[in-house]
Amino acid sequence: MKIQTPKYIRATGFTLVEIMVVIAIIGMLMGVATLGIGKAISSSKQKICDMNIEAIEQGKQVWSLENKKGDNDAASEDDLKGHLKNGVFPTCPSGGTYTINANNVRATCSKHTAASAPTP
Ligand SMILES: [Zn+2]
Repeated sequence: MKIQTPKYIRATGFTLVEIMVVIAIIGMLMGVATLGIGKAISSSKQKICDMNIEAIEQGKQVWSLENKKGDNDAASEDDLKGHLKNGVFPTCPSGGTYTINANNVRATCSKHTAASAPTP
């Protein structure tokens, strides 16, 4: 003999399949968000590195003007510290190291590709 629920009692709650579908959708959304955040972080680090290289370049220009240096002269980190913000040589956000290079060669980062020099 089968016990029947009276018609006036409505079955409540979700079935297992419904819950699994919702969890799958949430998982897909989180995956998409994680990918987007990862790309944004990578792009931000590249931009910060470009700005650091630009600051180094400006420091090199001031240093060479003040010390009457030519195109083939190269500044050291200590030479540039006085011409950089807060007197601190910048560090790459991805842990790369900067090579200052001579005055006629743009500074480079070991982790990031060289950014094109901004047009004045
Ligand atoms: Zn870098």
